Amino acid sequence: MDFSKIRLFLFDMDGTLYLGNDLFPFTKPMLDEIKKQGKTYLFMTNNSSKSVLDYVKKLDKLGIPAVYDDFITSSQATADYLMKNHPGVRFYVMGTESFKKELASSGVIVCDTYSEDIEGVVMGYDTELTYQKLDDVSKLLTLKKDIPYIAANPDWVCPTEYGYVPDCGSVATMICNATGRNPHFIGKPRPEMPLAAMERIAKKDPLVNKDTTMVIGDRVYTDIACGVHAGIHSLLVLSGESTMEDVEKSDVKPEFIMRDCAELLEKIK
Ligand SMILES: [Mg+2]
Repeated sequence: MDFSKIRLFLFDMDGTLYLGNDLFPFTKPMLDEIKKQGKTYLFMTNNSSKSVLDYVKKLDKLGIPAVYDDFITSSQATADYLMKNHPGVRFYVMGTESFKKELASSGVIVCDTYSEDIEGVVMGYDTELTYQKLDDVSKLLTLKKDIPYIAANPDWVCPTEYGYVPDCGSVATMICNATGRNPHFIGKPRPEMPLAAMERIAKKDPLVNKDTTMVIGDRVYTDIACGVHAGIHSLLVLSGESTMEDVEKSDVKPEFIMRDCAELLEKIK
């Protein structure tokens, strides 16, 4: 394939552009090259506990200047989804203050205490979770059986310095044990994030479509899967989590595999 036709690059971050707090040496030259050619890149993340501003700070520390519009997050994609499919609905939001702010700024009607007139539940990766919130959500999903129930990302766990903590998907399982209901998930591996990104960027670059958009990431079952489900190009880099062995075992196959983004930089030059 001719990589020069790609107009929109959707980058996973950790394992793709950096590892923990170490930026890969090819990341900055690659992002500069994409910009120089008048093309667009976005940073794509499933983490719905942090705000975009938190990520702007993180990238800035690593030496990558970024602004709000350089990101597509599962929180933003969730807000888009709610506004499109459930406009005007009062949602009980189980999530961090950042997550609630993100949804509210997009026009979602956000509630954070139980009341009779709530018509939907939305959940993010809630690092500020309390038992009261679990109680509220269980009550809503039990008493109001058919209300929409949406979760920002399906991840079971989130990595920390010492190992893992439960993420949004694990809390959804707890709620399911109590109520029998499972949410409609939004983040990777679902196609909503890449589709929302394409829709946004196509407004300023009419050449952006499924054939000129590529997702680049280090996890087959999330990054590559969301690209495949969205019908766009996908590139797995082996600089993070997934190995060739994982690719062989996986039902989902990346269209391209490279050692790291240094190879991508060579291809697009
Ligand atoms: Mg990654």
